[in-house]
Amino acid sequence: MSVRENARWMEMLPLLRLEVYGRDGDGRIRIEVQKGVTRAEKGLLTSARTRCAKCGNTIHPFRERKGYRDSLYYASTCQLEDRVACARSAEAIAEYAMVAQDVRRFIDDGNPPGGQLGLVWDTDA
Ligand SMILES: [Zn+2]
Repeated sequence: MSVRENARWMEMLPLLRLEVYGRDGDGRIRIEVQKGVTRAEKGLLTSARTRCAKCGNTIHPFRERKGYRDSLYYASTCQLEDRVACARSAEAIAEYAMVAQDVRRFIDDGNPPGGQLGLVWDTDA
């Protein structure tokens, strides 16, 4: 099951942002969680469960970056360190792109990232 099918996906969407990375802005993006989300919002994200886009294992798609407070990101598969093959699979990339497209559309529909939270688009992270 994709995170996009989660019953509370529409509550999760405003909490996400896209971050372009890579040299010369070659368009690769990361799906990140807004900084400054509330405890409840963080709980909503970190308690969500989906299935790995590749192998179908139950996963937590929103994860806290090890060693960083208040730094959460989205992943479409098992943890990289658990199963490299899942994270690098075509299925993982396709699912990631679908989620990113949802976030992009949400922003394009007039919902600025962090707009409902009064946060600032964080471009230098
Ligand atoms: Zn997997």
